[in-house]
Amino acid sequence: MDFALNDEQKMMIDTVRRFIAEELRPLEDTLEEQGHLDRTQAQALHEKSRALGLYALNMPAGLGGAGLSNLDRILCEEQFGHTSDYLIRRAFGNVYEPLLHCKGEQVARWLQPAVEGTRTCAIAITEPGAGSDAAGIQTHAKKTDAGWVLNGSKHFISDGEWSDFFLVSARTGDKEISMFMVDKGLPGFTVGKDQPMMGIRGTPHLELFFSDVPLEPAALLGEEGQGFKLAMGALNVVRLAQVGARAVGKATHVCELMLDYANDRQQFKTRIGDFQMVQQMLADSVIEINAARWMVYHAAWMLDQGLDAREQIAMVKVHAAETLGRVVDRAVQVFGGMGFCKELPIERYYRDARIYRIFDGTSEIHRGVIARSALKKGAALFDVHR
Ligand SMILES: Cc1cc2nc3c(=O)[nH]c(=O)nc-3n(C[C@H](O)[C@H](O)[C@H](O)COP(=O)(O)OP(=O)(O)OC[C@H]3O[C@@H](n4cnc5c(N)ncnc54)[C@H](O)[C@@H]3O)c2cc1C
Repeated sequence: MDFALNDEQKMMIDTVRRFIAEELRPLEDTLEEQGHLDRTQAQALHEKSRALGLYALNMPAGLGGAGLSNLDRILCEEQFGHTSDYLIRRAFGNVYEPLLHCKGEQVARWLQPAVEGTRTCAIAITEPGAGSDAAGIQTHAKKTDAGWVLNGSKHFISDGEWSDFFLVSARTGDKEISMFMVDKGLPGFTVGKDQPMMGIRGTPHLELFFSDVPLEPAALLGEEGQGFKLAMGALNVVRLAQVGARAVGKATHVCELMLDYANDRQQFKTRIGDFQMVQQMLADSVIEINAARWMVYHAAWMLDQGLDAREQIAMVKVHAAETLGRVVDRAVQVFGGMGFCKELPIERYYRDARIYRIFDGTSEIHRGVIARSALKKGAALFDVHR
């Protein structure tokens, strides 16, 4: 068992960290004020990151991605957590793993442009009537001689405004769900309103409406009826990366700010970091972040060994998201009034953190998965022979 990172990994982490510190963090305040970047600014970020090989680094090298192992990807994603969701999307892309199921002409039409960043994609599963129950969707696609006709609606679709096409889950039979690549601009496809959120400012979350949208046969991703399995399988690694690793990165960033403040701020002629009650908040944060980090690395290592990491990823999702929540809450407390004041970013991190317990499966849904598995397999899901 070797917990050490090698020199290449450290160099890669430093490159991402520097890019975020120099190119992205300075834009955070403007983004918070304006709610967006202009297109030329966003394009410039994309080009800079691509030149460094940081765009779509989750994709295989043969397609123009970085061809990283799961662990190496996770190390980068942890650093991504040090800035805002919107800036990550603009700088590093948003190329979802289900796209790797593209075949034949689909590669040139959807996968390759997504990896290059000439076309952006979003994933559209949730509907007003079907959130946690992702298999309970009403959107459906009917087979025709020319392909399919899509009807239904989605909501909360992250980055929808920037997206040129969507991976849409739709019912193709009573018990069958398939995935389709649906281009913006198709007849009958309307993009609805942006649904404002309490945090992650800048990222649009859109409603989508499909009314007799004609889809070519090539729009079907993977096999007919396999869409749910395809999405759930591929999104497992997305959950580990975009929620688990980023939550650890965010919590680390907030913790660093909290430690600096506890070192600098004086009350009663003493630095506040010397008060035991403050120390408890600092110590608990450091302990929980480090525990979450090793859970994330372990789950990534399991994926790299070809092991089934579903349960570990469910545990990571709950623990990393909830750790982040506790750490930002303590940060507000340690910063006192300044933690609540908009002059510092702490209140923003507090708002941004809340969604981590909800999207990509709520804490309750993942706890259900973990508990059912534990009841079946026992030994708290750890077995030296597995
Ligand atoms: C900012 C944001 C971005 C998002 N981005 C996307 C996106 O890009 N694409 C996309 O498809 N979706 C996206 N979503 C949707 C997100 O994945 C869902 O909001 C989430 O899965 C929860 O679904 P829901 O909101 O319908 O809540 P519900 O499923 O209605 O849940 C409500 C409450 O009931 C609890 N609950 C439900 N079922 C159970 C159960 N079986 N056991 C115990 N408790 C249960 C939940 O845990 C929760 O506390 C986004 C949502 C937000 C807010």
